[in-house]
This record gives sequence, C-alpha cells and structure tokens, in this order.
Amino acid sequence: MDKAISEISLALGNDAVSKEEDILRSHGYSEWSTTNIDRLPVAVVFPSSTADVVKIAEICSKYKVPIIPYSGGSSVEGHFSAPHGGISVDFMNMNKVIEFRAEDMDITVQPGLGWMDLNESIKTSGLFFPIDPGPSAQIGGMIGTNCSGTNAVRYGTMKDWVVNLTVVLSDGRVLKTRRRPRKSSAGYNLNSLMVGSEGTLGIVTEATLKLAPIPEKTGVAVISFPSIKSAANMAIDVIHRGIPVGAIEILDDVMMNVVNRVGATGRTWKEDPTIFVKFVGSQATVADSISQVKQISSRHGSLTFEFEHDEERQKRLWSARKEALWSMLALRKSGNEVWSTDVAVPLSKVADLIELSKKDLEGLGLLEAS
Ligand SMILES: Cc1cc2nc3c(=O)[nH]c(=O)nc-3n(C[C@H](O)[C@H](O)[C@H](O)COP(=O)(O)OP(=O)(O)OC[C@H]3O[C@@H](n4cnc5c(N)ncnc54)[C@H](O)[C@@H]3O)c2cc1C
Repeated sequence: MDKAISEISLALGNDAVSKEEDILRSHGYSEWSTTNIDRLPVAVVFPSSTADVVKIAEICSKYKVPIIPYSGGSSVEGHFSAPHGGISVDFMNMNKVIEFRAEDMDITVQPGLGWMDLNESIKTSGLFFPIDPGPSAQIGGMIGTNCSGTNAVRYGTMKDWVVNLTVVLSDGRVLKTRRRPRKSSAGYNLNSLMVGSEGTLGIVTEATLKLAPIPEKTGVAVISFPSIKSAANMAIDVIHRGIPVGAIEILDDVMMNVVNRVGATGRTWKEDPTIFVKFVGSQATVADSISQVKQISSRHGSLTFEFEHDEERQKRLWSARKEALWSMLALRKSGNEVWSTDVAVPLSKVADLIELSKKDLEGLGLLEAS
C-alpha cells in the first residue's frame, strides 16, 4: 500500500493525497452508520479528473490495493468502510456541472456534486433533480447506493434518473454505460448493473441525469392519528387509491415527543402518531389530492389535519420530519449510538411491521420519560 501511495503522490502531486489521522477517520467511520469497521483506509486521494482516477486505478491494480470511492459520506450502512485498508478516493474536487441541456431536460455532472447544489445551480430553469436522500449526499454516492428519498413515492429512485455513466474500472479502463438517448433498448443495461453497486464494480467519474419539471403547485399536510395502525392504514389507503402524492412519511408518538423535547423546529407538536404528506402537481391535481387525503384521513379517525400552501410555511410544517434523526442524535446519552436503518415489507404488512417493532422497542427501555 505504501508503494501505491508514493506512486499516486508522484502522479497526482502531494496535495492530492492525505494520510492525516482525522481525515482517515472521517473516511472510514461515521456516527450515523449501522456498521463501523475497526480498520481505516491507509490514505485518502483527491482526484480532479477522470484521467486522475484512471491513474489511481492503474496504480492500485498493479499493487492489488483496494479502492473505496467516497462522495458525501452520508450513507448509513457502512458503505464506505475500508475493511481491508486500501485507498479512499474522495471526489471533493470533482464537483462541477459539466453540461446542462435544459431543452433536453438532462444534465452531465461530476460525482462530487451534491444534489442540493445541483438543484441550486439550475433553479431558474424550471427544472429540478427530484431524488433527495441525506442533505450532504453527492451524485457519486447516490448512484453507488441507488438511493431514494422522501420523493420516492412519486419520482422513484436513483436508477430511474440515470441516462449514462462514465465509469473507471479497477484496472483503469474507462467505459460509458449508454451514451445519451433516453429511450434505447440496444445493448446490455449497464446502468442497472452500476447503479447500486456501492463502488464494487467501478468508479463513476461523470453522470448524465434526467431532470423533471418543477411542479406548478406544492402543499404539505400534517395529520395526527389515535394509533400507529390507523396512521399506517391511512397511508396504505392513499397509495391503493393512486392519489399522486409527492411524499408520505410517518413519525410515531415517541418520535414526535423527541422532536418536542429537543425543540429544534420552533413549535410544539401533538405527540400522536403523525403522517406527513407532500402534494405536487397542477393546481387542480393538488386541490383534488388534498380533498381525497382529507376524506381518507377522517375515515381512519384522524385527530387533526393541518395544511399549508405557502412555500416557507410548508418548510416549517415539514420540519419535524426533517429534524427526526438530528433530534434523536441530540437526545442520546453520552457514549450511546443511534441506529438508523430501513426495512422493506410488502405494502399489506406495513401497519403490522410498525406495530410489532414498537412493541419490541417498548420492552427495551431505551427512552427515559420526558
Ligand atoms: C439525514 C439522512 C437522511 C437520509 N435519507 C435517505 C433516504 O431517504 N433515502 C436513501 O436512500 N438514503 C438516505 N440517506 C442515506 C444517504 O444519504 C444515501 O445513501 C446517499 O445516496 C449516499 O450518498 P453519499 O454521497 O453520501 O455517498 P457515500 O456515503 O460517500 O458513498 C455511498 C456508497 O457509494 C459508493 N460511491 C461513492 N462515490 C462513488 C463513485 N463516484 N463511484 C462509485 N461508487 C461510489 C461508496 O463507495 C459507497 O459504497 C440518508 C442519510 C442521512 C444522514
């Protein structure tokens, strides 16, 4: 590994390589990851171009050194851990928009560009990139994890938005997965192979992504329920009826209590199981969706229904959902860790899953009463 690091320093310059302890730690350990390995990478390398990544791959291949791509470092399941040491490749210096083609509704970017920065850079165009995982996530890692986000119920996941990738393979060869046509059935579907491969099949150095029109109208509703089962059943009902909501999320009474205790949202919430719904579409679609969701909520025994049209106030209404993880982190006792993860079950089992998990958690006595 030392030989590889020296050769990479010679090829890219000393400034492109770090062996500082805190940099190694931040690239091999994460406070919000369910898995943290005892080992750290032996060096972190900061390429500036596809050509730099090719050099890194050729050198690492020669010395059989593992390469671990690293973008925003926000993944939650130990994705960027370095169990065999090796070299972490950080795309901090590859964070540019290469080409934005508004008329084609697509954009080519480097892997170190954050999805929020991407949206900021095109916000006057009437288009946006709808996949919204952790706020610090960047395109390379979003491709690596095939991430989703709160918009997934409406816009799908990362795999649905990738048109073409430039990928450096482990021996330094470069391939393009598809070029630019959106509708093409020619050849192997390499996008599907690469998206979600967690850096194990190659290193993405450029990505062409589809963009969506910014919806004409948005709205947010926050609805509280007497039980977690009634809240979950309401959400299932909304999906069954095909109501085109932008996002639908659930926080239980315990989580609402945690958000209140930490107080980061500037208001006090009802401490009941709560559903958060985003509405997106034309004026008419949003109005119709709200009225249907209101009726369904009341059929499932909703206690309150708050709705907001104004964009700034929508953010405040969505804030409890946004602050959930950070409130939990703020409330833990020193030395404790937060384990945040995902589970997947068929739609028909969602209510049972939440109810059973809550029963299990109650028995653990994790939270002291407020
Ligand atoms: C508050 C919070 C909320 C979140 N919400 C969601 C959510 O709703 N949905 C969701 O899916 N995730 C969510 N996440 C998890 C996380 O944001 C996503 O997994 C995200 O896609 C990771 O992107 P990243 O840039 O941080 O990737 P990293 O953590 O840096 O890397 C992730 C994986 O991709 C690989 N990788 C990185 N760059 C490249 C590259 N250039 N080429 C090839 N492979 C690469 C890495 O090796 C690693 O395996 C959340 C995280 C937080 C902290």
